[in-house]
Amino acid sequence: MKNELISEILRLKDEKDAVILAHSYQPPEIQDIADHVGDSLQLSLTAASTESSVIVFCGVKFMAETAHILSPDKTVILPELDAGCPLADCIEVPALRSLQKLHPDALTVLYVNSPADVKAESYACCTSANALEVVESAPSDEIIFAPDRNLGTFISRKSDKTFHIWNGACRSHAVADLQDIKARMDEWPDAELLVHPETPPEIWELAHAVLGTGGMIRHVGESSTKRFIIGTEEGMVYRLSTLYPDREFTTGGNIYCYNMKKITLQKILYSLRKLEPVIELDPRTRKKAYAAVARMTEITG
Ligand code: SF4
Repeated sequence: MKNELISEILRLKDEKDAVILAHSYQPPEIQDIADHVGDSLQLSLTAASTESSVIVFCGVKFMAETAHILSPDKTVILPELDAGCPLADCIEVPALRSLQKLHPDALTVLYVNSPADVKAESYACCTSANALEVVESAPSDEIIFAPDRNLGTFISRKSDKTFHIWNGACRSHAVADLQDIKARMDEWPDAELLVHPETPPEIWELAHAVLGTGGMIRHVGESSTKRFIIGTEEGMVYRLSTLYPDREFTTGGNIYCYNMKKITLQKILYSLRKLEPVIELDPRTRKKAYAAVARMTEITG
């Protein structure tokens, strides 16, 4: 049954001139059928460069919006409209504008995990990998950083600039279980602990490295260590195991994103049949949000 479902998805994908993109936090069966697996920005850039006219984005809503921002002429589909991101949803335009009024000299650097209309109000977007570079290149010594407080704190400790950090958090990473991580470290004393900067500071203090998902992939490739405890969403363990079958990986912190798991093979099949639900923005918002995303890509190359 599952094989038939996959065959039909792959057939329709060709028929509809579609490309399937999957975030590294997606379930294994979805990573397996995807044309590309990666982080949100990497996938959006891939979407922009693909020849396909339809993009099926297996991730959460802000990611599909970013793909649309970068590829307005393509049809961007999110197989489950209800796949939101509590971190992105914790910031809205009026509240950000109020903070900007309080700090008129500050420039707003916005994590890509944010809604498009808020991106449109920012100086530049950033990812966890390039946040410090974007902050340092912003022509102001004062930065409003939103919406993730843990990433903002992590970057502020590496910068001499003055930070005003939004008090938002990823509900999955912010409650990472420290005791679980310690137990894994006891079980695998030879392993490296890699954690995401959306986890709280007490977890970074235990880690060998604090990295975004792309950084984790590079780090493992360059390390001579054989075992790794992965302090980010559990889908990343599958991703790393696929890329590095000669290494061993385990989860650390019980980090699980329910929204990422709302995409299923059945929903992908439905989306390909109907070419919906489509993610679109009003052109003015898209254009302004594009400027913030483009500034980031100009800064980081
Ligand atoms: Fe949002 Fe956190 Fe899920 Fe990422 S892991 S999509 S930041 S809720």
